[in-house]
Amino acid sequence: MKPEDIAALLNEPACAHNKESKSGCAKPAPGATQGGCCFDGARNALLPIADVAHIVHGPIGCAGSSWDNRGTRSSGPDIFRTGMTTDLTDMDVIMGHGEKRLYQSIKQAVETYKPAAVFVYNTCVPALQGDDIEAVAKRAQQKFGVAVIPVDCAGFYGNKNLGNRVAGDAATRYIIGTREPEAPAYEIPGVTRHDVNLVGEWNVGGEFWNVSPLFDELGLRVLCSFSGDSRFAEVQTMHRAQANMVVCSKAMLAVARKLEQDYQIPWFEGSFYGMRDTSEAFRNFARLLNDPDLTERVEKLIAREEARVEAALAPLRDKLRGKRVLIFTGGYKSWSVVSAMQDLGMIVVATGTEKSTEEDKARIRELMGDDARMISDNDQLALIDVFHDTKAEILIAGDRYIYPTLKSRIPFLDIDHVRRIGYAGYDGLIELARNLDHAAHSPVWAQVRSEPAWATAGARPRPRAVA
Ligand code: SF4
Repeated sequence: MKPEDIAALLNEPACAHNKESKSGCAKPAPGATQGGCCFDGARNALLPIADVAHIVHGPIGCAGSSWDNRGTRSSGPDIFRTGMTTDLTDMDVIMGHGEKRLYQSIKQAVETYKPAAVFVYNTCVPALQGDDIEAVAKRAQQKFGVAVIPVDCAGFYGNKNLGNRVAGDAATRYIIGTREPEAPAYEIPGVTRHDVNLVGEWNVGGEFWNVSPLFDELGLRVLCSFSGDSRFAEVQTMHRAQANMVVCSKAMLAVARKLEQDYQIPWFEGSFYGMRDTSEAFRNFARLLNDPDLTERVEKLIAREEARVEAALAPLRDKLRGKRVLIFTGGYKSWSVVSAMQDLGMIVVATGTEKSTEEDKARIRELMGDDARMISDNDQLALIDVFHDTKAEILIAGDRYIYPTLKSRIPFLDIDHVRRIGYAGYDGLIELARNLDHAAHSPVWAQVRSEPAWATAGARPRPRAVA
């Protein structure tokens, strides 16, 4: 990828903080790939397309360190879960065999797995060597009759966020608009059907399935959930949607913007975390689609769902109300989880802003006030100090904080993208409240925080006799 292409991806006009004093995101600097390189971000964004063979072109370490690192789920094919790599060795580099190995790998993937398409991810070594993955993809596509999509995302181009953008760029450049959608499988009498897309919904822990029945009920056909539980053919048809929702993902704004620019599809940004945000998302769809009947049905659905959630939450809310929670996540979750906690009546004492954009921070201030405490230091011990300083009672963070937190005898809830539990939508909020209750009120805390019996008795336990 040329430097000017990287600069263009970093300069997203639809990003609000880009319109102010800044122009574009910071360019990659040494250390920028800590927490995920560009390749990692691109593969994370496209890996959930379930019927595609995802081939990592590079040394085996690139594929190994990022394989299956999102708890995304598929309702059908599972080719995406098979790790594939060209496994470049020193000798391949010395002999210049990279392109040959890539071609053979595509052939093997097509013959063995019969995927709907093959995605080829470029990594640092072949990019430095100058392998022309676009030319190889073109030749393989002609030869094998299967779409082969080059994703030029070498790790040194930048961080994970840039990788997400590269993925979106590959989708708009090579995939979207190459197929027309099928006619709907069924009609709902008296209901006008609308086609919509979700952009940046990864179906982590099956989160998309928490909201998809509600879309069905409203007569909103999700042409594509890009990319959680999606199929290649669905991504191809995204240009025919009548409205798009960018789900908590700044890095995917460019996809929505390009669909608006090229196909006049209106879009909005939203979240399915928490009751207020879920209801707001459906209202926004009704507003963009400008259908009074839909608006009426959306309001009825929201009233019914919110009443159901309130009833289910009532006993949990009594236990959680007023509990002090420290959230340490990054990106969009820094504010979307805050909103869900506030829906439960909890007090958010601070939230992490690692990898959050300026607009994410503005959303935090909107929800928590101008004095909102934001933490960007990801040091584990410093985080535990903040927990005690703020008199927090539970920590919500990614899975890398599990062990230091539990060793410090602190109640913990995992909100990482590798988790297997979905917290989106109305049902997700109930599940979240249940798990928070279990974490905060587990009887284990009283046990591990109490003095051991021998300490209170003033005597050490006697060693057991060895036979
Ligand atoms: S693409 Fe580069 S930075 Fe990323 S895992 Fe591979 S070698 Fe490391």
